Amino acid sequence: AADLQNEALIVAASVRDAAVGALNPSIRLGVTGLSRAGKTVFITALVNALVSGARLPLFRAFADGRLIAARLSPQPDDAVPRFDIETHLSAVLDERRWPQSTRRISELRIVLEFQSDTFIGRRLGTSHLTLDIVDYPGEWLLDLGLMGRTYAQFSAETLAMSRKGARASLAAEWHAHLATADAAAPESESWAKASSELFTHYLRASRTARHALSALPPGRFLLPGDLEGSPVLTFAPLDVAADAVPAPGTLHAMMARRYDSYVAQVVKPFFREHFARLDRQIVLVDVLAALDAGPDAVADLESALSGVLDAFRHGRNSWLTSLFRPRVDKILFAATKADHLHHTSHDRLEAILGRLVDRARQRASFSGAEVEVLAIAAVRATREASARQDGQDLPIIVGTPEPGERSGDKVLDGEEEIGVFPGDLPADPAIALQPGGYRGRAETGEGDVGIIRFRPPRVEGSRDKPRLPHIRMDRVLQFLLGDKLA
Ligand code: GDP
Repeated sequence: AADLQNEALIVAASVRDAAVGALNPSIRLGVTGLSRAGKTVFITALVNALVSGARLPLFRAFADGRLIAARLSPQPDDAVPRFDIETHLSAVLDERRWPQSTRRISELRIVLEFQSDTFIGRRLGTSHLTLDIVDYPGEWLLDLGLMGRTYAQFSAETLAMSRKGARASLAAEWHAHLATADAAAPESESWAKASSELFTHYLRASRTARHALSALPPGRFLLPGDLEGSPVLTFAPLDVAADAVPAPGTLHAMMARRYDSYVAQVVKPFFREHFARLDRQIVLVDVLAALDAGPDAVADLESALSGVLDAFRHGRNSWLTSLFRPRVDKILFAATKADHLHHTSHDRLEAILGRLVDRARQRASFSGAEVEVLAIAAVRATREASARQDGQDLPIIVGTPEPGERSGDKVLDGEEEIGVFPGDLPADPAIALQPGGYRGRAETGEGDVGIIRFRPPRVEGSRDKPRLPHIRMDRVLQFLLGDKLA
């Protein structure tokens, strides 16, 4: 009888432990997006919202009053730099300045203390959700596609892309240099160096605001992190067929060797140590920048999005699956900087990104994780008003442009507020995405919002709990965390 009683106690204890485990969940949340998509601003705003209690009506745990506290806590990985939240918050809150953008991977842990809404949870008292936020460049994510490609395949694809549309003229100098040597020529360090420099220059030129093309791998050529100047980055595509096999001692053999090292020493460790450990992912996308730049940028964005989805599919099907159990169960695509539009266009922006993601999903034949799409502003830098023009009341947005921005002929000092016409997105996303269907602001020269950068807003709330205004961050939190705070 004593044995039976002991066993019953053990069973009861393990049921209790399982319940406590389920009630004290943890999430590793990846935050990514191409350079300047808004990762740093997003994480800064997210922490501010949780710690200072922004207005979050659609984040249920918060709206129900079950979120008791949120506090920063030491991160688990000692070798990964910490996301510098204090400096970033102080820039936005105290100086009304945007923080320094993401250049490499960083991490931050935040623990949410909450009251569970379930029957058992209410009896067990306070629960904790441990949230590890991992910030990493989207350029590195697109690299994961290189894991299944040979150097010759990578070369053929990259070169074909560089001959299309707006990319062709940006790549002209690199192409001219490429014509000076043959893949079968003897290996040459100086030629390889010159070629990789011109190739990098082309990749960077495609990312400027005017072209807003999405990134192509190798991602470290754009954001080298700690590898700046390293020989592992001294390679570039050659004009070879996708099934070409290099002969020893040739330029082709030399480049292929370096490409293989890049994949083995840079891409795979990133996959193994960071990517494969994520539970959930938010991908930030500057859709407005692509729309403003025109059809080439939009087409490029769509193929980058299918590259992103491919990376998550890789996580499921590749040779690594047996070693690293894939676990990303939710992916959120968010169109950032929606505060550059009037609220009547927020749903339209969301629909446009939704359409792009759907098409990318078909291309990547992606299934598995739950996918959601939102238009957001992590920090709302503008407010809405109306202005009279030609006897009509038209919606405008009002904000403080950064010092040095222009309004007409006037150079602004960073203190003065101005109102601008934000322009309308088409109601039908198909029209916005058709080549020639929507002329972006760069092309029409209307409403220079695409070009004007606003300063962060004045904060709301009290001095010790300053709150940043936002758009739809509560929906972001509900999608990413809501089920774990039930
Ligand atoms: P990252 O490279 O992805 O880390 O990008 P950042 O977070 O540094 O954002 C790049 C720039 O985009 C910022 O300096 C801001 O000018 C702008 N930005 C980002 N998020 C927002 C937002 O929510 N609202 C507005 N108005 N601008 C934003």
